[in-house]
Amino acid sequence: MSEDLFEKIIDREIPADIVWENDDLLAFRDVNPQAPVHILIIPKRKIRTLNELEDDDAEVVGRMVLAAKKIAASEGIADDGYRLNFNCNEAGGQSVWHIHLHLLGGRQMGWPPG
Ligand code: 5GP
Repeated sequence: MSEDLFEKIIDREIPADIVWENDDLLAFRDVNPQAPVHILIIPKRKIRTLNELEDDDAEVVGRMVLAAKKIAASEGIADDGYRLNFNCNEAGGQSVWHIHLHLLGGRQMGWPPG
């Protein structure tokens, strides 16, 4: 039985609009999009928060960013621009305990974030 929400999506126990995957990563549309394009890129191997990252995870985190770059291009938002965002723990706005990279685009982003 899968433990967290995103593991259930990886295991196809709950549906998601999956846009891309490979052996290590999965990308799917956020169920509550904050922009016209809002995609989550996650590692298939569970890492609870950014605080649990080890030096050996540099490859998987780098691959997440590269996947986001490719998906941004395929979604047609690369040239206009987009935002990549990791949230860590409660004060950082994290609500699902499996690291995920938010890819947001298709509208003008504000700064600073709320
Ligand atoms: P966080 O707040 O942890 O950085 O981001 C978690 C994200 O997961 C939120 O943007 C939320 O909308 C999204 N989310 C939560 N539950 C589901 C779900 O069941 N399916 C999908 N596709 N996204 C979800």
